[in-house]
Amino acid sequence: MLGPPGAGKGTQAHLISEALQYPHISTGDMLREALKKGTELGGKARAYMEAGALVPDNLVDAMVRDRVSREDCKEGLILDGYPRTISQAETIQAIFDGDGTRILTIGVEVEEQILIERLASRWTCPKCGKMYNAKLDPAKVRGTCDACGAGLVQRRDDTKEVVAERLQVYYRATSPLIRYYRERGLYFGVDGNQPIVTICSAIMNRITESR
Ligand code: AMP
Repeated sequence: MLGPPGAGKGTQAHLISEALQYPHISTGDMLREALKKGTELGGKARAYMEAGALVPDNLVDAMVRDRVSREDCKEGLILDGYPRTISQAETIQAIFDGDGTRILTIGVEVEEQILIERLASRWTCPKCGKMYNAKLDPAKVRGTCDACGAGLVQRRDDTKEVVAERLQVYYRATSPLIRYYRERGLYFGVDGNQPIVTICSAIMNRITESR
C-alpha cells in the first residue's frame, strides 16, 4: 500500500487484510511497538520518527526481511508503509524474486490540503489498530474503540510541524515509487477521496483481476 500520510492506507490495509486473511504488516506500527517495548531497534528509530524523518533503510529492511519470512506470510501479505524509498523497493523485490511472491502496488491518492485536515482529526485504537476520523468517521462512544473498547489515542507525530515534515519526506523520497511501479506495470492508483467501502471494493476488484 502506497500513499502519503493520512491517505487512508492503514484503513484499507486493515480491511483487505481481513477480507483476504493475509497479515497486515505496517512498518509504522512495528516501529511504534519497538519504541513502546524499548528494544534496541526502538532506541535507534525514535529520533527519526519523532522528527517525521524516515528511519534508515538498513534498519527497516532488516525488520521487514524477518517479518515477511514467517509462516503466516506464505499465502500472501499486505505491506503498509513499506517500501518508502527506491532502495527499499529494490530490497523487497529481491526478497520476493527469491520466493516467487508477486507484487501489486496500490496507491491511495489524496490531495495535500485534505491530508493535513485528516491527520489533525485522526484517532487510532492502540489495541486493534482501527482508525477513526473525529469529523468524518467518529467512534460511537467518544474516545473509545467501537471494535474492542480500548481508549483511542492520537499519534505523537500527527502534530502540525511533524505532519508538514512527513508530507515533504513523502513527496521527496516516496512518491518516486509511483513511477517506479508504473513503469513495471505493477501500480494501481485509487481515488482516496471516495467513501471507505468504495475504495475498498475498487482495490479488491483489482486484486481479484491480478490473481
Ligand atoms: P507510518 O505509521 O507509516 O506513518 O510511519 C510512522 C513513522 O515510522 C514514519 O514517519 C517513519 O519515521 C517510520 N517509518 C515507517 N515505515 C518506514 C519505512 N518503510 N522506512 C522508513 N521509515 C519508516
